[in-house]
Amino acid sequence: MAAPIVTSIELLEFSYTRPDVAPHEKTRAMLYSPGATATLKARALRVYTNSGIIGGYVGGNATEYAGIPQVAYALIGKNALAREAFYTTAKQALKQHARMGLSQIDMALWDIAGQYYDAPIYELLGEFRKDLPTYASTTPGDDHPDGLSTPEAYADFAEQCLELGYPAYKIHTWREAPMKKHIDMLTAVANRVGGKMDLMLDPASTFMTFADAYKIGRACDDLGYLWLEDPYRDGGVSAFGHRKLRQMIRTPILQTEHIRGLEQHVDFIVADGTDFVRIDNDYDGGITGVMKIAHASEGFGLDAELHGPGPERRHVMAAIRNTNYYELGLIHPKMGRAAPPIFLDGYSDEIDAIDSNGNVQPPEKPGIGVEIDWAFIERNTTDRTVFE
Ligand SMILES: [Mg+2]
Repeated sequence: MAAPIVTSIELLEFSYTRPDVAPHEKTRAMLYSPGATATLKARALRVYTNSGIIGGYVGGNATEYAGIPQVAYALIGKNALAREAFYTTAKQALKQHARMGLSQIDMALWDIAGQYYDAPIYELLGEFRKDLPTYASTTPGDDHPDGLSTPEAYADFAEQCLELGYPAYKIHTWREAPMKKHIDMLTAVANRVGGKMDLMLDPASTFMTFADAYKIGRACDDLGYLWLEDPYRDGGVSAFGHRKLRQMIRTPILQTEHIRGLEQHVDFIVADGTDFVRIDNDYDGGITGVMKIAHASEGFGLDAELHGPGPERRHVMAAIRNTNYYELGLIHPKMGRAAPPIFLDGYSDEIDAIDSNGNVQPPEKPGIGVEIDWAFIERNTTDRTVFE
């Protein structure tokens, strides 16, 4: 069959609502807010081809989509299977803009390839395994009595996740709290479930100083945490600062969520800035980009850990040997995820999505493997742009 040629690219913005959710007034983090209804915006894109195959992707944000007009026309008339050609074209065209927009189109091209070859993406990548060990990744803390407002609440939720079958629990802590409260919480969680599940901490670069990072690192050492991720306000980007931190604490650290793409990840590894390598389909050049970084990490003997859930990430994880956990989140004892309800076929990344062994699996249909609810997206579309 002749290669599918790209004829047009459609960008959609749509709205949806989620109960008991409100964005934090400063950080915009989605927090538990009983009785509130958040009206949220999400984005999707479709790449159309002359073969009738349409590649779809749902996800990304306005910043990422802002880069797409700079590369969309370069793809019209091109072979939709030539992903490396698009990767290098888009990487050059968006070099001043952190390559935002490359990733989302790349994932739609992988969806096209899967349909063209009649195979799920993980098979095209080369399957390693289909059972993906999964960690419960919490929302940031809140201040509601039945939410994640106290150290004991985080410990209760860890125990709930352990009982559901999760082998690991990653804490996103409060965005603004005294260091003592954070450390009390780490202690409460470790006392409750330590030794029964892997524990990780992700302050998401909220702690203000290197000293805060050091204090929290020492606490993680004492309590046996598996990794400490993006502890402080360098923003997660200083290889030098994290090399220093690694020399001062024993807990492995996980960096590179906040840097972009293959070369910067390799530079960070070579500079001794991290123990685990963070990779993200939406930030690092799509499936094409994260597989490059996963293989580069493999060459250094390191593990590459995927950021966030979603069907495309399941396909990627299923094809990587040197990785440990699928990140299912962000979840909370009382609130569903803030993500839009756009997958059919029973696909879910909610708290009860794991099987009895604590795993999720990649979906099995060709391409991304799961039907996207385009009717829902079209009913709720608030903006549409077509390049042709
Ligand atoms: Mg993180």
